[in-house]
Amino acid sequence: MRVKDNIAIDIRKVSEPDLKEFIQSKGQPGYRAKQIIEWIRHKGATDFDQMTNLPKDLREILKAEFTFLPIQIDHVQKSKDGTIKTRFVLHDGYYIEAVLIPSVADKRYTICVSSQVGCSLTCSFCATGQMKMQRGLDAAEIVDQYRLVNDQCRTHFNAELTNVVFMGMGEPLLNYNNVMEAIHWLTDQRGIAMPPRRITISTAGIAKLILRLADEPIRVNLALSLHAADDEKRNSIMPINETNNLEVLMRALRYFYEKNKRRISYEYIAFDQFNTSSKDALNLVKLCHPFPVLVNIIEYNPVEGVSFTKAGSEAIDRFARILLKHRVNVTVRKSRGKDIDAACGQLANKG
Ligand code: SF4
Repeated sequence: MRVKDNIAIDIRKVSEPDLKEFIQSKGQPGYRAKQIIEWIRHKGATDFDQMTNLPKDLREILKAEFTFLPIQIDHVQKSKDGTIKTRFVLHDGYYIEAVLIPSVADKRYTICVSSQVGCSLTCSFCATGQMKMQRGLDAAEIVDQYRLVNDQCRTHFNAELTNVVFMGMGEPLLNYNNVMEAIHWLTDQRGIAMPPRRITISTAGIAKLILRLADEPIRVNLALSLHAADDEKRNSIMPINETNNLEVLMRALRYFYEKNKRRISYEYIAFDQFNTSSKDALNLVKLCHPFPVLVNIIEYNPVEGVSFTKAGSEAIDRFARILLKHRVNVTVRKSRGKDIDAACGQLANKG
């Protein structure tokens, strides 16, 4: 990116080498770029006047060329179960959502972040999939969600966020570079210092990008939104499966496991009369043995305009028991934040 061509660009999008080149072109010492990056990345500055170790004339030069375009809180909803959903407005008027999921008993405070405005993958059960895909978020917009929700976590729970899941709006692997940049930012020891093992990327399953993620030096967790354990069923609810079928995905996941040695999670929403039969369970078992897996069975939450209904608790129990009998690690997750449309698959900027 050529800095000079971009007037009033968000300075948080500018790389250190570009910033250095710009600063030197203005007759200032190059090491100032490092200081600016430190203010942004380590101290979360969103105003040039916070950068008190920069000379005033440099701050004025920066103000003339750059700006900050942080996301803003637009609307906050609190669920009876403590879950907090926040809608943010972006500088260009788009909306996204993030969810704070507290688990006070085990001191676990998770943020579910969005990675795109809308989603192009059109999974049939998902509210976000019904929205038009607009654009990917940049790294600063992802980190902004973290910072603003972390403030909420301090206010409401007197705690810091402990986990980050890329499970909000959008397919994170289709916004690969920005998501990885955000992960570098979140895990930087001099700043937020979130341990990579507390970050999870949840994907609908794009094999070549799973392979790419496996080769990254930074080791995060991977969750696959599986939801059906045979290709025919999965094709019918997740069009991405037509080009990334289960065989191809299993190869990619095995590679990810071999490189990372991290147990992979399968997210499995239990739909009534669709994916909880004994045959479905046995198909799922086959997908669980090539490498260590945890299956999270998730209660379905109704989405307007979608014909699926949630499976009953008996069907879920029976299904889970078959998995357990075949030595598959399984959890049955109660949905959080249902009353405010903050649960899995429900994010659609409804407010
Ligand atoms: S489930 Fe995920 S990948 Fe599928 S449409 Fe929704 S946001 Fe996109």
